[in-house]
Amino acid sequence: MSDDEVVRYLIIGGGLTAARAVEGIREHDREGAITLVSAEDHPPYERPPLSKDVLQGKAEADVAYPHPEGWYLEQGVTLRLGQPARSISVDARTVALADGTELPWDRLLLATGSVVRRLDVPGADLPGVHYLRTMDDSLALLDSLRGGGDVVVVGAGWIGLEVAAAAREHGCTVTIVEPTPAPLLAVMGERIGGWFADLHTAHGVEVRLGAGVTGFSGTGHVTGVITDTGGTIPARTVVVGVGIRPSTELAGTAGLAIDNGVLTDAALRTSVAGIWAAGDVANWESRLLGRHVRVEHWANANDGGLAAGRSMAGVDITYDPVPFFYSDQYEAGLEYAGYVPKDAGAELVVRGDPATNEFMAFWVAPEGDGARVLAGMHVNVWDTIDAVQALIRQGTVVSRERLSDPSVPLEELA
Ligand SMILES: Cc1cc2nc3c(=O)[nH]c(=O)nc-3n(C[C@H](O)[C@H](O)[C@H](O)COP(=O)(O)OP(=O)(O)OC[C@H]3O[C@@H](n4cnc5c(N)ncnc54)[C@H](O)[C@@H]3O)c2cc1C
Repeated sequence: MSDDEVVRYLIIGGGLTAARAVEGIREHDREGAITLVSAEDHPPYERPPLSKDVLQGKAEADVAYPHPEGWYLEQGVTLRLGQPARSISVDARTVALADGTELPWDRLLLATGSVVRRLDVPGADLPGVHYLRTMDDSLALLDSLRGGGDVVVVGAGWIGLEVAAAAREHGCTVTIVEPTPAPLLAVMGERIGGWFADLHTAHGVEVRLGAGVTGFSGTGHVTGVITDTGGTIPARTVVVGVGIRPSTELAGTAGLAIDNGVLTDAALRTSVAGIWAAGDVANWESRLLGRHVRVEHWANANDGGLAAGRSMAGVDITYDPVPFFYSDQYEAGLEYAGYVPKDAGAELVVRGDPATNEFMAFWVAPEGDGARVLAGMHVNVWDTIDAVQALIRQGTVVSRERLSDPSVPLEELA
């Protein structure tokens, strides 16, 4: 391809990563031909409102669009909506869509995100059993929650907890069923996970821990959730939130290196020249953390999409964020920054009193007499997350006593 030829960009994905990638490309290449292919019928949208304001009926679904459909037209982007891409040919530099169309590309972005894990138990296909990933899922669930009645949430992860909060807003009777001893156990540990259980209990949710789901009862429509601790919990609506997995099938057709997502370097380039990956599907080389990292966070879709677009347009970038996540449940707003490897042997340091619903938590690695902050979270202690990110990025060794003392400004520790 000579320099004066127009570059053909192809973006596969209908989430925030895809939307931001268009922006990243257009910052540096006004002429390139961009085509965006999504399996969904909607223009690209972001997902956090789908378990919060939209599900609570406080906002219309269109708050989820970073750009209206017309914006893509203005940017000279061809949208191919409702069209899953089925395979990638690296040799021919084409992508085959479900309808048989072959699209050519010079630079290709995989922004295929994640898909929900499904429960494989009797009754799992009954009407009334919901999952929450897409806008259509959210609107169907909203409809059901508006009808009130008994709601059972299977899984006390982020999605399950936010759905439980939304269901309480609609006046539903809510039970959460979770097999481990605490909500969010893998990320938060037992003590902070226990705080989430208390928060929901205080809002009238029955939190059943240590209980697994073995099936759903009902004929024609779900009527209950059967657990391994005995008994059936009545349910008019069931929401299953048992995690997601990266959507790597398409990447597999191109022979890309895959290991817990599509492997990329720090510029979000995959193992095949001309193909990038970003967002939930990418397991990128984090220079900061000294390892490959894959997260399922809004900020990574936002910033990673933009970075991938710039990288595709020829800008020399290093994508190196401190991972960042947020959630809202009832009156609790929280932000979490950092990354704790499973084998880190991290210790918990709490700052403030969780019982007040205003506190911070840090996960630290012991170092000499002090500790290095791997991750930190605040609940309703706003304007602190930048300082948390600075502590993590600088790798400063801090004293646990000062870290846990709310009267010591975090900036003084950095
Ligand atoms: C309900 C909900 C609430 C959330 N809340 C928060 C929150 O509060 N805070 C936070 O930090 N994160 C939150 N997240 C996570 C965050 O939304 C994700 O990390 C983000 O959506 C990832 O964006 P993405 O563009 O990489 O992938 P996705 O948003 O998953 O988008 C991938 C898109 O690619 C399309 N696609 C997949 N395969 C193909 C194919 N072969 N052909 C064409 N199209 C394809 C899919 O249909 C989809 O449209 C939430 C997620 C959900 C579902």
